[in-house]
Amino acid sequence: MALLITDDCINCAVCEPECPNDAIFEGTDIFEINPDLCTECIGHYDEPQCVAICPVDCIPKDPNRVESEDELKHKYNQLTGRTA
Ligand code: SF4
Ligand code: SF4
Repeated sequence: MALLITDDCINCAVCEPECPNDAIFEGTDIFEINPDLCTECIGHYDEPQCVAICPVDCIPKDPNRVESEDELKHKYNQLTGRTA
């Protein structure tokens, strides 16, 4: 699954530079994740970097973007031109 940022976000901005896929951006009210770019960090790291650093734990999985590990690896391959 892609992840999403809930409205508990305090706009601290520490997650944005941690994303290896540049999927996080400053939205109108809070930071947001582009689900087309989020691989749950698969291919880059063992765990989602945004979740690891978020001080208020407001980045759950997006129930509307259910993706298997293979699908996330395929997304990584498409985004980077490399093989996860
Ligand atoms: Fe970016 Fe990884 Fe967070 Fe997805 S899980 S938004 S790829 S840091
Ligand atoms: Fe929002 Fe968490 Fe990102 Fe800070 S780290 S901007 S609280 S989602």
